[in-house]
Amino acid sequence: MELLHQTFQGTPIEGIEPLIDLALDLRWSWNHGLDELWREIDPDLWSATRNPWLVLLAVSRTRLKKLLQDESFRRKLEAVREHRRQAEEQPGWFARAHPATALTSVAYFSMEFMLSESLPIYSGGLGNVAGDQLKAASDLGVPLIAVGLLYQMGYFRQVVDREGVQYALYPYNDPWQLPILPVRDANGEWVRMKIPLLSATIWLRAWQAQVGRVTLYLLDTNDPENPPMHRGITGGLYGGGPEARLEQEIVLGIGGWRLLHTLNLSPEVCHLNEGHAAFAILERARCFMQDHHQTFPVALAATRPGNLFTTHTPVPAGFDCFTQALMERYLGRYAQAGLGISNRELLALGRMNADDPNEPFNMAYLAVRGSGAINGVSRLHGQVSRRIFQILFPRWPQAEVPVGFVTNGVHPATWDSAHADRVWSDACGKGRWLGELDTLEADLNRAPDADLWQMRLSDRKALVDYVHARLARQWADQGADDEAVARAYHIFNPDVLTMGFARRFAAYKRPNLLLHDPKRLVRILTNPQRPVQLVIAGKAHPADLGGQALIKEWIAFIARPEVRSHVVFLNDYDMEMSEHLVQGIDLWINTPRRPWEACGTSGMKILVNGGLNISARDGWWAEAYTPDVGWAIGDGKEPDDDAAQDAAEAEELYTLLEREVIPAFYTRDHNGIPTAWLARMRASMARLAPQFSANRAVREYTEKYYIPGAERYRRFSADQAAVGAQVVAWQKALEQHWPAVRLESVRIEPAGSEWTFETAVYLGDLDPGAVRVELYADAIDDKGPVRQELARDAPLVGTAGGYVYRTRIPMTRALSDYTVRLVPYHPDITVPLVATHILWQR
Ligand SMILES: *Cc1c(COP(=O)(O)O)cnc(C)c1O
Repeated sequence: MELLHQTFQGTPIEGIEPLIDLALDLRWSWNHGLDELWREIDPDLWSATRNPWLVLLAVSRTRLKKLLQDESFRRKLEAVREHRRQAEEQPGWFARAHPATALTSVAYFSMEFMLSESLPIYSGGLGNVAGDQLKAASDLGVPLIAVGLLYQMGYFRQVVDREGVQYALYPYNDPWQLPILPVRDANGEWVRMKIPLLSATIWLRAWQAQVGRVTLYLLDTNDPENPPMHRGITGGLYGGGPEARLEQEIVLGIGGWRLLHTLNLSPEVCHLNEGHAAFAILERARCFMQDHHQTFPVALAATRPGNLFTTHTPVPAGFDCFTQALMERYLGRYAQAGLGISNRELLALGRMNADDPNEPFNMAYLAVRGSGAINGVSRLHGQVSRRIFQILFPRWPQAEVPVGFVTNGVHPATWDSAHADRVWSDACGKGRWLGELDTLEADLNRAPDADLWQMRLSDRKALVDYVHARLARQWADQGADDEAVARAYHIFNPDVLTMGFARRFAAYKRPNLLLHDPKRLVRILTNPQRPVQLVIAGKAHPADLGGQALIKEWIAFIARPEVRSHVVFLNDYDMEMSEHLVQGIDLWINTPRRPWEACGTSGMKILVNGGLNISARDGWWAEAYTPDVGWAIGDGKEPDDDAAQDAAEAEELYTLLEREVIPAFYTRDHNGIPTAWLARMRASMARLAPQFSANRAVREYTEKYYIPGAERYRRFSADQAAVGAQVVAWQKALEQHWPAVRLESVRIEPAGSEWTFETAVYLGDLDPGAVRVELYADAIDDKGPVRQELARDAPLVGTAGGYVYRTRIPMTRALSDYTVRLVPYHPDITVPLVATHILWQR
């Protein structure tokens, strides 16, 4: 508190501390009660920045003093403080559900975090997943600390002119005005540290943001002691070339773990949200080497079970890759001096073929080789990822590639409208998103139709108001005259079906699918009995000219006089706009080309507010869709002809809108309620909102990965990494002796209703305990493939490591389904993640 006061130097303001506390806790980003408080202090600044910290810094002292003496303001303040105190103090789901776990802390690394538009360190979906998971972890009491970068400019800000040309702007974010603080050590000194870069070292500065119970540490390089060329490393997000990206990833991974080590934090689990942060694997191992006097291989084996890699990309081109030259220049010294390994050994961690000088270093490969578990972000993306990573597990069946999945979810309290919050509170209680969600479906189903529909009416109206104000501002900023600006208020109608399409303008998302037949779209929008209005928003990456051309197409379409009051393009899609859209939109449109949308999250944000989805069967919608909750397009296949697929799916989209969606919205009962629409709304809210919440996702991560990962890390690292060292010895033995191993032909005999399998295996000098002989058959149902172990019999006399192995199986499947194989085995190890050897019977 003393330190905070330094920012408010001069005459101390009595009673200001609680306000400072609240302003620096991003909990306000998901608490509607707090909005009122900031609005009361300075309504204009609050609505323009939605940054309470800035509001406090900017408002006059006189005003603050006066408010703090005001009885009613003090009462409100006390109420929100009490709410916060309760939220902090209640033990939370984690402590209740897992009182005796080995897990004390998870470090969550991500290149971006979308927590609030007042902390612009995000671009889109990846940051959204990260931000919402931090909030849910705080709600649930899961002990998480997060690590990211503090960008001086963040992702670009968008202006689109009247001709549809996109301009990328990079306003500077003054860190002292963001809702963050410098990290201080016990003596009050600002924590800074050195990390290696090129042949020198650079300084990193550390900041922290409070996200309820979760602390997010942010690093930047804008330290005046750094040479100018390095001060801008953390300038922008996703700009620059490979070298700039490599620099950022060194700061995030190596700097991030070093910060935790400096702060004496020792999380058991390191969760890599995408491969960007994979250098944390190396730094974690280096710190372990230093603390326990171990070699790099042993340190890696000991720490690896505690690392979790979440992959978000559906195509190999999405992985970050760096050339050998760049890697050697930037990390050669670190590898030798820090890790005690050669350049070749370093490069091998990120390559398929260690000795191919033309193969780049792939961050995802490093993440796979340094993690104890890997997951994709939807069921479909899990499958796609097994296909992508199969290349690292040669000769293993795709079904056994060790990639699982946890479908993403969003944080409902961040995205719900105040009205939706009331409806849910009435039906399901205040603490509904803080624990298990089993009762929510039944509870919400008791909410009256009229309440649900009233919520839609008022939220749609609020969106129309927002569109008016936003558009008027957009036009005024472009220099339109007053008369033209006034016209912004005549666009849209609060009673008209409102569709939304807001997302990155990237070709695979097909933002122009709706424009496939412009005349037909005009007819849909302007049908006098059943009109439709449409909000479009989204940025195209500054280097993506194709994406920018798609924006132009929309601007040209909107310029048609007949649709001008039915379609708008809003500039500068960000989190604040997203909140308004997902609260007010009736129908959310999503048209990715399967399987390119790993998961997608914006469609999940509308669930809690009663919006409905119409989407391609991709990402989360491929597992969420049933006819009673929304609409799907596409046949769930991946055709080779994009143009034909686009034509077919556009046709399907138009037809669905014309025949089903729009009629459902406009067919009303005698109370004015669209009963068929409302039935879908209810099913979508009650069933899908809990299922696709970050609450569910974080509980799943905790139980499926964090707790088991923490247990294994503790076991592997205990007693100076005794198990880790054993694993290294086992790996070495496999490497050395595998080439000599032989599997003889198999004898199969019928025995009653069973087959007996018998084979001779020659292991040479390999310990028979280090391998298993298995009978394998591909899965024929969802139970997974058959893997039956063969029992080892006595050694074959006069042979080098020869044994007979036998087993029996019932004659329920064709004999030709089965193959005998030899695979590595270690009681503590996941195969093939840690040992990829495999030998099949010919
Ligand atoms: C939710 C969100 C996204 C991600 O949406 P997708 O459906 O994954 O494309 C991107 N940007 C903003 C501003 C968002 O709020």
